[in-house]
Amino acid sequence: MLNLNSARLILTPLDNNYILNDIELFISQLNDEKFLADKLDCADDYMCFETGDDFLHQITFLGCSPTLYATDDAGENKTFISIKQHNEIQFANSSAIPPARCPHCQKTDKNWPQYLQNWQQASQTSENCPHCQQTFQFTEMKWKKNGGYGRLLIQIHGVQEQLAVPNQSFLDHLQTLTNTHWEYFFAE
Ligand SMILES: [Zn+2]
Repeated sequence: MLNLNSARLILTPLDNNYILNDIELFISQLNDEKFLADKLDCADDYMCFETGDDFLHQITFLGCSPTLYATDDAGENKTFISIKQHNEIQFANSSAIPPARCPHCQKTDKNWPQYLQNWQQASQTSENCPHCQQTFQFTEMKWKKNGGYGRLLIQIHGVQEQLAVPNQSFLDHLQTLTNTHWEYFFAE
């Protein structure tokens, strides 16, 4: 089975609550663009795909070449794409020590694991910054590229942190398709 929690690059709208009315249309457009190709078996209502023929023109790999053949079950670092629209905002982060920052003063706040727990348990919906004392929600924290939030997630699995980036032309194209700005971050 494909590992949905492998190291990955996540593309998501800048508006973390954004979702599409027609996800199937979006996927067929990404297929037309040769970003993705054949569908793969995948768990948890995710839609998973082989990378398409133009994938390497849309995502730039900075290290060694990716293993693009996801049907080869032997490889741990296979590259494949998953897409899902979630009912609620999702959070993911990389194992690099994430510089979670206050959305107001931008200072790092090492208490974020507690905020995450509060958010997951819905026990507390707002937090107070120890630096500027202003209140914020966990889902408003700033992570640079080491974490983020979203409901519509395009995940490119098998990508080690910071070793691949979406080309600006591809981000622009996603914006054209969805009429909203996109961002990206890394998780594992
Ligand atoms: Zn602050």
